[in-house]
Amino acid sequence: MSYSSNSCATAEGVRSIVILEPDVPFSKVLAMSIWAETSIPPCVVSSAAEAALYIQDHPEAVNIAVVGLDVDEAPLLLETLTQESIPCIAYGEDFDDESRKRLSTMSIADIVLGERSVLPGRVGHVVKRIVSNRDVDILVVDDSKSMRLALVRFLTTRCYNVFEASDGVDALGVLGKYPTIKLVITDNEMPNMDGFSLIKEIRKTHSKDDLAVIGISGKTNSLLSVKFINNGANDFLNKPFRKEELYCRVDHNVEMLDRIKLIRDLSNKDPMTRLYNRRYFFNHCDDFVEQAEAEDKTLITAMIDIDFFKKINDKYGHGVGDEVIIKVANLISEAFPEAAIVSRFGGEEFCVLSAHDAGDDLFARYDVLRRTIEATSIDVDGDSVVVTVSIGVTKEKAPIPLMIKKADELLYAAKESGRNRVSLS
Ligand SMILES: [Mg+2]
Repeated sequence: MSYSSNSCATAEGVRSIVILEPDVPFSKVLAMSIWAETSIPPCVVSSAAEAALYIQDHPEAVNIAVVGLDVDEAPLLLETLTQESIPCIAYGEDFDDESRKRLSTMSIADIVLGERSVLPGRVGHVVKRIVSNRDVDILVVDDSKSMRLALVRFLTTRCYNVFEASDGVDALGVLGKYPTIKLVITDNEMPNMDGFSLIKEIRKTHSKDDLAVIGISGKTNSLLSVKFINNGANDFLNKPFRKEELYCRVDHNVEMLDRIKLIRDLSNKDPMTRLYNRRYFFNHCDDFVEQAEAEDKTLITAMIDIDFFKKINDKYGHGVGDEVIIKVANLISEAFPEAAIVSRFGGEEFCVLSAHDAGDDLFARYDVLRRTIEATSIDVDGDSVVVTVSIGVTKEKAPIPLMIKKADELLYAAKESGRNRVSLS
């Protein structure tokens, strides 16, 4: 197994976008569109020489180059940048056959063509996709090393992070090790485990909505695509294929998974804090309890409430109140990086269902959270807002609604005895 990514897939993310466009008014519209789509303000240059100079001066900063094909030296600049593995997006109204031929030999992430009026929107959309691709992990499975290398080259040109496996057995090992992989592109004819068997195994643990599979095959059997889909693949490609066709299928499947995730998030998460909502909590708490019991963990239910929250709203307004809720939500979330359902139950009230090892000091765990929140100030127009929370924690074994009721009573006791404290039983 091996792993490949190109220069834009750095831990720091995309740091800079350079646009080569000599038409100043048009370059401004283009820059605005890219900025709006990516939240990255691009740097605009008007000549290839200026672009080369900027990149030379900022060798560690340039992650994506957007190049207008109208500029005479554009093909030469694209050649240089792609050789340096800088992801390039070329755009224009049209180009001649000679340019087409020359561009096809380069590893350009995308070429966007269209009338001038539609180009800014289209280029902005493509730049956004290339930027977001750096967070997408893809596994390529093929026993042919040359085919794997070609797929890896095509996909890393589009900034995807790519893992490789040489057969189905190898692929299952990689998937087990890297759960962030969201797309598998697999050959069918392979030793040890073929593509059909691999997909059947994958579908035992991953649904089509969680992990997409694109089957590829060199066999000229018209029923292969049907067989792939029936075995659980999302899509199918016949070898040989054009890289544009591969890009279309990959982009389509990744975008589909993104849309499904967005819909799930909208129904399961609180839009303001990004924590799970009450519905998600009650829909998933039974599975969580079952898992905790199977692992012999101690189950904890905690209710957390921000002290004197109404006073914050009254003094600073609801905007600051929302900022406080988001800050506290982030701190609670950071306090439980492992097994837990951290949710916002409403207003300034949070509920945490967590699983702990037998020896854990549960009081200390929640008291550290309480002290962390107390020690964190939130800046508001030069003023520093400090908030505290009261926490009720129960480890009594009972059905979840009763545990919540008990944690609520303990939270009330913490409030009654002076706030900014943890009450545990
Ligand atoms: Mg094969």
